[in-house]
Order: sequence, then structure tokens, then C-alpha cells
Amino acid sequence: MIILGLESSADKLGVGIISDEGKILANLRKTYKPPRGSGVLPRDASEHHAKNIPELIKDAFEEAELHPREIDLIAFTKGCGMGPCLRVAAVAARTLSSQLRKPLIGVNHQVGHIEIGRLVTGFDDPVVLYVSGGNTQIIAYTEGRYRVFGETLDIPIGNCLDVFGREAGLSDRNAPMGRVVELLAEKTDEYIPLPYVVKGMDLSFSGILTATLKHLKNGIPVEVLANSLQETVFAMLTEVTERALSHTRKDEILVTGGVAANTRLKEMLNQMASEHGAKFAGLPAPLAIDNGVMIAWAGYLMWTTGQRPKPEDYLVDQHFRVEDVEVTWRSNSHKKRTPAVKSS
Ligand code: AMP
Ligand code: MG
Repeated sequence: MIILGLESSADKLGVGIISDEGKILANLRKTYKPPRGSGVLPRDASEHHAKNIPELIKDAFEEAELHPREIDLIAFTKGCGMGPCLRVAAVAARTLSSQLRKPLIGVNHQVGHIEIGRLVTGFDDPVVLYVSGGNTQIIAYTEGRYRVFGETLDIPIGNCLDVFGREAGLSDRNAPMGRVVELLAEKTDEYIPLPYVVKGMDLSFSGILTATLKHLKNGIPVEVLANSLQETVFAMLTEVTERALSHTRKDEILVTGGVAANTRLKEMLNQMASEHGAKFAGLPAPLAIDNGVMIAWAGYLMWTTGQRPKPEDYLVDQHFRVEDVEVTWRSNSHKKRTPAVKSS
């Protein structure tokens, strides 16, 4: 079976093709870049996606050396995401489905990230830290569903780093803002205290961002702020992930999403994982960043375990939650780690 996946939930347009054996045949992406100094407006990003999607689909089939009629299933991101952006992949998927007479399935974006992560790392039952421009969630599987154990109460982590970078006047056309902030942070070990906001299992980044921008106005060097911001927000993420790991007694941690490219974040998570005797893995960037392959693979898992769309499933849902998906492709009998007993 060959599956086509279309993803356009935010600033990236992704087209992926995968086989039912998990062989990636194409993984193409085009990113909408807003004008310098401004953020991503959904309408502008959706126009970019609509303009580029026919060509990108064509290129993906060329790369996979397949004729469109050779695919067996079309998967698209149903949500969550920005409405106008989501609709581009959904409309393209519906059009292709009727032209080619191939079935269609709508996929939850987070399920896509998790399942491509499990496929690529070989992890069976990880605690997943999903950190991107639009999301910050700690997710784990229990009793037939992926559950959100903790999440941001306001802005996502990637957005926090991006706004800081923009306000500091940083820019690089060839690298994401988070990477620019990371490179600056590597220049110093100097740290100034910033608010550390973990509320139960949830996180808040907007107060930290405001405090950081205030320090910036007051003349604190930008690299000191970059370092302090990273150390603070990554420690918060590591703390909540650690608690989810302890609570669920799982023994694998997976980090995914665009911010997962950050070396310092991976270092902190890796250290925490090893203190718990847990395994840790990140994903290679082409599969950690939003992509069509993850949607194709999750769509395949749904389809092959009997899920069939109802009429409303052909529509997008901006607020589609990961817990709303019944995970039909995993058995419920997952082993739990015996908690490590610390010798005194
Ligand atoms: P996504 O929403 O998954 O496509 O990821 C995009 C987000 O990842 C943006 O907020 C980027 O600034 C951020 N990002 C990309 N590379 C890095 C990095 N090396 N460190 C931190 N954040 C990053
Ligand atoms: Mg994403």
C-alpha cells in the first residue's frame, strides 16, 4: 500500500509519500517566510500554500517515481492548526481523492508527529515532548488514547523564542529564528534570573518573554538574554517531561517539533533521561519539523486498523485535540518501568 500525506497546518507546506512498510518515498516541504520583522499571518501563509501545492505534489510523485494512480490512500491534516492554512491541504486532498477515486482520511497533527517518531526511533511507548512554533505539549499514551499531561497556558515555546529574536532585531533568511537564538546563547554562560513559570504540569512563557524584553530595553546584552531565556524555558520543559515520565513509569523520551533541533534542549533532556534509566531520542529535522510523511504514516495506521471517515471528518478542525483520537493501532498492554529506587 502507498500513502500520500498532505500537511499545511501552519507556515509549512509538506507533501510526503510512504509505503505500508514505512519506507519514505518522498518528503518535500516549502516554508512560508513572512516579511522581515513580522510574524506569520494565516491568510498570507495559506496563499503561499495554495500557490505551491500543485507543484509540490507533482515533485513528490516524481521523486517517488510513481504515477498518482499508484497510491492507495490520501491523508491530510484535519487539525489542529490555522484554519485558512489547514483548508489548503484538505481541499487538495478532497480534489485528488475524487479525481483519482482513492480513499481519504483526516489525521490529527500531533498523532502524525508521535507516530513518525515511533516509526523512526523504534521507540514503543515514549513520553513525547512536542515543541514547535505553534505547540508545546507533553503527551503520553494511556488506555487507548494519547493524553496531554502538560502544555503551555499561553504562547508556544517556539513563538516565545521567535518573538524574542524579532524584537532583538535578529534575522537570518536561511535559518529559523530559534537556531539564531541558539547560536547567540552559545556565546556566553552568563545567566540572569528570569521568571520560572510551571503551574502544576502546565507551562507559561508569556511573562518570561515580557521580562526578557524588558531586560533587552534596559541594555542587557542580547547573548546573555538568549542564554538566560534558553536555560529557563528548557529547564521548565525538562521538569514537566520528567514528572510525566515518573508518573507514567515509561522508559523512553522522544522530543519532536522544530524546537527539538536545539542542542541545549536535547542535552538537558538526555541528562534527565539517563538519571531515570530511560532512553532518549530526537528526530532528524526533516521528520521533526511539520511534514507530509508523518500525516501519511498516521493515516495509514488509522486506515489499516479499520478507521473510516464520517462526512464531518472531511472537514478541518482548528482545535482538534490529540485525546479525541481513538488509537486503534496500539495494544493496551504496555509495560511499565519499575521506578528506580535511589540508594541513600
Ligand atoms: P515547527 O513549528 O515545528 O515547524 O517549528 C518551528 C519552530 O522551531 C520555530 O519557532 C523555530 O524558531 C524553532 N526552531 C527551529 N530550529 C531551532 C533551534 N535550533 N532551536 C530552537 N528553536 C528552533
Ligand atoms: Mg507540528
